[in-house]
Amino acid sequence: VSRFEVVEQGPPIEVFQLNKLFIDDSFKNKVNLTVGAYRDENGKPWVLPVVRKTEEQMAADQSLLHEYLPVLGLDQFTAASVSMLLGEDNPVIAAGRAFGIQTLSGTGGLRVGSEFLNKHLKYTTFYYSDPTWENHHLVFMNSGFTTPRTYRYWDPKTRAIDFDGLIEDLKNAPENSVIILHACAHNPTGIDPTHEQWEKIADVMEERKLFPFFDSAYQGFASGDLDRDAWAVRYFVKRGFELVCAQSYAKNFGLYNERVGNLTIVMSDAKYVAATKSQLTWIVRGMYSNPPAHGARVVATVLSNKQLFDEWRDHIKYMSSRVIQMREALRSELIKLGTPGNWDHIVKQIGLFSYTGLTQRQSDYLIQEYHIYLLRTGRINICGLNPGNVEYVAKAIHDAVTK
Ligand code: PMP
Repeated sequence: VSRFEVVEQGPPIEVFQLNKLFIDDSFKNKVNLTVGAYRDENGKPWVLPVVRKTEEQMAADQSLLHEYLPVLGLDQFTAASVSMLLGEDNPVIAAGRAFGIQTLSGTGGLRVGSEFLNKHLKYTTFYYSDPTWENHHLVFMNSGFTTPRTYRYWDPKTRAIDFDGLIEDLKNAPENSVIILHACAHNPTGIDPTHEQWEKIADVMEERKLFPFFDSAYQGFASGDLDRDAWAVRYFVKRGFELVCAQSYAKNFGLYNERVGNLTIVMSDAKYVAATKSQLTWIVRGMYSNPPAHGARVVATVLSNKQLFDEWRDHIKYMSSRVIQMREALRSELIKLGTPGNWDHIVKQIGLFSYTGLTQRQSDYLIQEYHIYLLRTGRINICGLNPGNVEYVAKAIHDAVTK
């Protein structure tokens, strides 16, 4: 007998399960379009050269120790992260109305931020887009939120945003609902609101007294331009919203497993910063006590050195332009094959992902017949495409669509 006999097997996490199936697949031309991680033109993971260089310098630096970081992380890192998100000249920074705390990547920022909003601001209802990154629901529920809701986002018929539906759902949201908004490169659809649409979203959120929780997992990765990708967050700040934003350095620095993130908090009066920091300190203390140092040191070093920063900016331009090229390549292969349907959405979408519009049955067919792994929703990671496999993938999609 065992005390553990009561434990029931939980369901698998789809994305990691598919990734494992891919790894175990012995087919030579298999293609992995599952996990949202960057791959180079040979399908290989890429450590950013500026990260390698910084790590080499760090390895030689005898002054770096393995002492604990403060509970809220490395100051140089959090300050640089807030500046990158809001723009260094943002008046809320000078007014002391914005600050950051280091978190365990984007997920950790969402987790600590939502627990804080639930415990201290007593918010219980949260809204996420339908569809969204599959972890938003669980993270907020684990933080104490009790009422999950969705707002309409993707319209499968037009393969674009159901903007009227979105606005109607926000208009019906109860006061103080927390609205999770993707800062840029919406996961999984790859479709972001236009500036005019963001303005309307802000109007409704202001009128209905809703609270914006931005999730910024792809700054710089969407357009290749850090400022452009932060437009929505900066616009809300300019409009006078109080808000929080979880930032991830997994994608834009390629530091997936180092868990480097920041939670930025903007409030209307600097008077409440000290109490807020003290309560965030207690939340982190009870959860993991303090964050890891390595990745935060790498990011802080690069963001605060002009030459390294310029090198990094070139890297993100390079990565985002490779993604854009692969979107073009996939669309033009499908057009060449005469695959039925309109494939313009592939190039209109931005960021790592494309919601292809392939059905679950077609997605399963690609996995089974072609060893091309993608999520059952038809989401593909564009980085999994490269000049060596895009034709193969297009032919497989053609077959799945026409058979
Ligand atoms: N939010 C979104 C929308 C994401 O796509 C991701 C990464 N898949 C995350 C948050 C968090 O990722 P991480 O915890 O690795 O930073």
